[in-house]
Amino acid sequence: MKIVDAKVVVTSPGRNFVTLKLTTDEGLTGLGDATLNGRELAVVSYLTDHVAPLLIGLDPHRVEDTWQSLYRGAYWRRGPVTMAAIAAVDVALWDIKAKAAGLPLYQLLGGASRERIGTYGHANGRDVPELLDSVRARLAEGYPAVRIQSGIPGLKAVYGVTDTDDTGAAVLHQQARPLVEDWDTAAYLRHVPAVFEAVRAEFGAELPLLHDAHHRLTPIQAARLGKDLEPYRPFWLEDCTPAENQEALRLVRRSTTTPLAVGEVFNTVYDYQALITEQLIDYVRSAVTHFGGVTPLRKLFDFAAQYQIRSAIHGPEDISPVGMAAAVHLDLAVHNFGIQEYSGHSPLTDAVFRHAYTFTDGHLHPGEEPGIGVELDEELAAAHPYAAAYLPVNRLHDGTVHDW
Ligand SMILES: [Mg+2]
Repeated sequence: MKIVDAKVVVTSPGRNFVTLKLTTDEGLTGLGDATLNGRELAVVSYLTDHVAPLLIGLDPHRVEDTWQSLYRGAYWRRGPVTMAAIAAVDVALWDIKAKAAGLPLYQLLGGASRERIGTYGHANGRDVPELLDSVRARLAEGYPAVRIQSGIPGLKAVYGVTDTDDTGAAVLHQQARPLVEDWDTAAYLRHVPAVFEAVRAEFGAELPLLHDAHHRLTPIQAARLGKDLEPYRPFWLEDCTPAENQEALRLVRRSTTTPLAVGEVFNTVYDYQALITEQLIDYVRSAVTHFGGVTPLRKLFDFAAQYQIRSAIHGPEDISPVGMAAAVHLDLAVHNFGIQEYSGHSPLTDAVFRHAYTFTDGHLHPGEEPGIGVELDEELAAAHPYAAAYLPVNRLHDGTVHDW
């Protein structure tokens, strides 16, 4: 079997997605997600100009060899653009291999290690009463765990608190320049323990509660927050510091028993080496889409398993259903699965990417279709062309740019 076509499809059914479609001489097709939020077209160029021509004529069964040749052969290794492009190729090859075998991908990864995949959903509120309503809504949808993010008194906009329209639906700011949000770390550190106290008072001790600090704290600030949250037993504190400085987590770890989750912006195992071998974290958060695909993420999870660290694949709405499907197959197969972030996609996105995975009673399952189980409707995709859109920028009250 040989690859005869490699095509990149960009579509924006409400937000931008980049998809690689490989076709073989036997008529099998494979899909891979290459979406890099806010930098989508850089990956399109990487794939179209530099990778697609190399794939023509290759045997799609050679997943490992193709991965290694794209990673090592480029000379310029790592980075989100490179690794999103390699991820798309890797997942598309796994899709073809599993279709050729007539099996859902998880069967090729060792088969199911569990019956279904536990998720957490996002609860957001501009203030605590609104957050409590949002938690209630997630629980009504069946989510077994909830990430809680609240507006901070004195701040206009806060990470994780999405604008909503009259119906309560999320409003996406699809625009050519980033929004500017404001930030005050001291106000945040004062407010978050009270948010946890209010949610625990309303929903009891058993509900797993997660919180994302979005890389905004120094190590000593993160240590303070971890200690302050201990009485409320969070499931985890996510991305408390900008963790490309792996040593920062040593101070946090020494100071608190609050579990730590890190890694959604990481691209390779090298970003995690000290974090894993020194057991500084409890969950690894990388996405199939941004970590070079199923092949290296499986290796990361196996490495993490030696240290009792568990998986928690990043699952925001800017991971396409193709990337989400690959994640769900991996979640079902790996022994050290922890939890899967899941928000779902809009009905229009689900129409562009028809998928076999299901979300029932707060749990995902990849389904039994051969491959990853996603079909791309190219006609519908073409009806929703790329529209420039960016994540916000974060500034302190004096105008200084802060981590977003
Ligand atoms: Mg996060």
